Amino acid sequence: MTELPGFDFVTAGKVRDLYAPVGRDDLLLLVADDRVSAFDQVLSRPIPGRGALLTGLTRWWFAQLPEVPNHLAEADVAVPAEVADRSMLVHRLRMHPVECVVRQIVTGSGYQEYRRVGAISGVPLPAGLQDGDRLPEAIFTPAFKAEIGAHDENIPFEAVVDLVGADTAVALRDASLAIFRRASAIADAKGVLLADTKLEFGDDASGRLVLGDEVLTPDSSRYWDAAAYADGRRGASFDKQIIRDWLTARWDGTGTPPDLPDEVVDRTAARYRELVELLTS
Ligand code: ATP
Ligand code: MG
Repeated sequence: MTELPGFDFVTAGKVRDLYAPVGRDDLLLLVADDRVSAFDQVLSRPIPGRGALLTGLTRWWFAQLPEVPNHLAEADVAVPAEVADRSMLVHRLRMHPVECVVRQIVTGSGYQEYRRVGAISGVPLPAGLQDGDRLPEAIFTPAFKAEIGAHDENIPFEAVVDLVGADTAVALRDASLAIFRRASAIADAKGVLLADTKLEFGDDASGRLVLGDEVLTPDSSRYWDAAAYADGRRGASFDKQIIRDWLTARWDGTGTPPDLPDEVVDRTAARYRELVELLTS
């Protein structure tokens, strides 16, 4: 955590710090740094440029989704230059405790759940799916947003209804699926397959549902190389998979994760830059 003149420190997430402008309870400054987490653990080695890259991509996606109300704030608040390219001034929302996950590719923890119970977040899926198979339609597979340090837990739609009420639950699902379809079409046109993503929403002061947090970054999403996928190569991802694969090969998930070597750090940073280039050019 760094001192930011004109801001009060509010709280630290895993890879972002939250500040509020002094005297402005209605605003937040979300500051991303270069730290990276995998398997719910913050790793020792930062990925250079990552904070700015994720922040820039989030802003770009908000601009591609003009029909979706988002939390970006225009306010007469001076953001310190040292964090300008890796921070967003946003309206403070009352966040819904639901991670709104949408998937069109079955992989990762979703695939693990499917193997155990034949469904993800209570959404039944056809038998015989392989890791990395594409579904005919994107599905909404919500998770309960756990406290820092705990694993998020997939929950069925009825549990979302219990958490936020039926109207909000339906609104969260419909908005998530609509955003996913739009983003997936944009990515498709750039040769990038959006395998899955996680969105977070909250209510603003007037009770309107607003898209918050970071959106459609390689941290909150799995992006795969569409051409490689069409050739049957499913590992060609633009996200943290490089890190996840390196860790899984040499760490059992207990205790402190091993330090990433330079080569993995560099490869991850390059892959992030490649994704941004592909999507935004
Ligand atoms: P992870 O994303 O890895 O699960 P985390 O969510 O605990 O970890 P961060 O993502 O680093 O940590 O922190 C961002 C926090 O800010 C999240 O708790 C998110 O819900 C919250 N947040 C995002 N946008 C807003 C907003 N507009 N108003 C209030 N809180 C927000
Ligand atoms: Mg988060």
